[in-house]
Amino acid sequence: MSGSNKTVNGVDMSAYWLPFTPNRYFHQHPKIMQSAKGAYYFDDHGRKLFDGLSGLWCSPLGHADPRIGAAISKQYEKMDYCPAFQMASEDTFRLATRVADMAPKGLNKVFFTNSGSEAVDTALKIAIGYHRVMGNASRIRMIGRDRAYHGVGMGGISVGGMVANRKMFASMMMPGVDHLPHTLNLSQMAFSKGMPTWGAHLADELEKIVALHDANTIAAVILEPVQGSTGVIVPPQGYLQKIREICTKHAILLIFDEVITGFGRLGANFGADRFGVVPDMITFAKAITNGVIPLGGVIVRDDIYDSIIANGGQEQAIEFFHGYTYSGHPIPMAAGHAVLDIFESDDLVNRARALEPVLENGLHAMKGKAGLLDIRNFGLSGAVELEPIAGKPGLRALKVLEACIERGALVRVAGDVIAVGPPFISEPKEVEFLCSVLGDAVDAAM
Ligand code: PLP
Repeated sequence: MSGSNKTVNGVDMSAYWLPFTPNRYFHQHPKIMQSAKGAYYFDDHGRKLFDGLSGLWCSPLGHADPRIGAAISKQYEKMDYCPAFQMASEDTFRLATRVADMAPKGLNKVFFTNSGSEAVDTALKIAIGYHRVMGNASRIRMIGRDRAYHGVGMGGISVGGMVANRKMFASMMMPGVDHLPHTLNLSQMAFSKGMPTWGAHLADELEKIVALHDANTIAAVILEPVQGSTGVIVPPQGYLQKIREICTKHAILLIFDEVITGFGRLGANFGADRFGVVPDMITFAKAITNGVIPLGGVIVRDDIYDSIIANGGQEQAIEFFHGYTYSGHPIPMAAGHAVLDIFESDDLVNRARALEPVLENGLHAMKGKAGLLDIRNFGLSGAVELEPIAGKPGLRALKVLEACIERGALVRVAGDVIAVGPPFISEPKEVEFLCSVLGDAVDAAM
């Protein structure tokens, strides 16, 4: 018995603890989605809502594409599970190859996980394992960045830079983690279209951190090429290049966390491609299955894998003591193949790229509205930053979300930032609709 009488549509709400949600506020303002088709959700008020964030950045093909459903159900009939250790399905190898083929040159090894959080913790372990087998066991420090989101595993919250995600769990933090400053500075870059011109020098902070700790103690730097969850923070021109140079100079591995930016969101396969900066590992999740079923992974530079494998001891010994019951699970593999087939047949990365100026123009048309501190965009992602209600951080954005829902669109709240990332299947007029709804909602919430 849950012991609560809070219901919505006759359903008891009391047992379900909503993740990353203000549960008390939610119980007063429940939001119930009942179905989804194409670029739209349908809620319990009978409203049709344009999916302005592609689910949680994970559904770029929209919803209920029958090609994904058919692939999943066919795989279910054929083999619903395959033990992940000591064996694998043929389609698991094939999906790894396809993912590697999409990744930058030299990154050809793929470790599958179930989520972005697991992908991040896996990448951190690979970094430490690699240095150890290379005889550099002192390289155990990790460098993250302020305002970063790398999921909720212990590694992820340690390198992450969202204070609220960390402060309750101080005792669980990995030791030896340091953070770069984030690159958002409204006085220098507010209302920039695309990449800000100011801020490349912030990469030099990495040199200071290296000097402080000594390069020989640092395993890896992990960054989201565009910081997504804290509100689409776009890297300054030249910043990522400088980070790459400094990492290379000090033999520090560079990990791009591309859980949001991977698979087309920035109008290229990966952010690495769009920015022309090749990291040593890439984490991915979300769009690889269009959000239909969990799947994540790490794409690894060949010689990192080769070194760990070559130093694995006797041939019958496991080289890397890490993995999940559902690594390479045949059903998400089937979904992944169907999604990548659709990416190819429907030319979706180029569609995302073609929609970029539509989103940019739509968002920046709001400039000058009362209460807007910033508008930013890159690829098929963007954000507006709102002036918070005095003494009530986050409330204005929740009001904007509700005003958007009343007007027919879903957006994402991140503090007092509203983020958008429409599906790649959107028509230009739907992206324009999203921006005009958001503009009206901002006015309504003032
Ligand atoms: N890394 C980044 C950059 C993310 O944006 C997210 C989720 O939004 C994660 C990791 C965590 O992924 P998951 O929620 O699948 O664990």
